[in-house]
Amino acid sequence: MTIRTKKDYPNPGFGKMIREARERKGLTQPELAQVLGTRKGLVSLWEREQNFPNDAYLTKLGNVLEIDVPLPDRNAKGRRSSGKGICKNEQCGKEFPRFHDEQFCSRECAYQYLSEHHGKWNEKERRYIDTQGYVHLRIPEHPDAGSTGYIREHRYVMEQVLGRRLGPHERIHHKNGNKSDNRPENLELWSVPKKDPPGQRQMDLVKAVIDGWSDVDKRDLQNWLQDLLAEIVIEP
Ligand SMILES: [Zn+2]
Repeated sequence: MTIRTKKDYPNPGFGKMIREARERKGLTQPELAQVLGTRKGLVSLWEREQNFPNDAYLTKLGNVLEIDVPLPDRNAKGRRSSGKGICKNEQCGKEFPRFHDEQFCSRECAYQYLSEHHGKWNEKERRYIDTQGYVHLRIPEHPDAGSTGYIREHRYVMEQVLGRRLGPHERIHHKNGNKSDNRPENLELWSVPKKDPPGQRQMDLVKAVIDGWSDVDKRDLQNWLQDLLAEIVIEP
């Protein structure tokens, strides 16, 4: 786990707890590292809260130092929390475990916040409705905005709700069938269902499409695929 800043550290005070417990046992950092089978630099990083022990080391630390170790928050897919966030919905303002870059503690909080702020930011943005009924917003700085600077509003709203970019295989469904009704509560996130393993022809087609992408889009796809791979669990 990478700790970028102090506020990313999942359990403030745990570093101090390790140091105190280690000293109680009369162990130096190198000695503790040796018992755990790791390098002494790692113990130092833990104690300075610049790195958080992985699950295996957490358990060992608990046993060796005879302390209760904190169990990191996990989401439904078993991914470890990367730190704490404060819910952006001011009516909530609760602290919550973050896994990506979520801005809200829950879907409900995001919906409430965006419903209340929606009208306001719509008036400010330049927008138009295309012939199919989709709303386009002018946000030139958005990575998905084409040369015209417009992006599709429903995707933008869902990104705000989720606090992250949408992956290329994520689609937004309008629950009531009205494509210009982009209230968060009318939007649903769908993944394009996986079909049979693609044959060579389709793979070539996919490669040809990706080859035509910008480097930024290619990198986004790569990051997204890496995240996806990390979450795939294959039973033996
Ligand atoms: Zn909240």
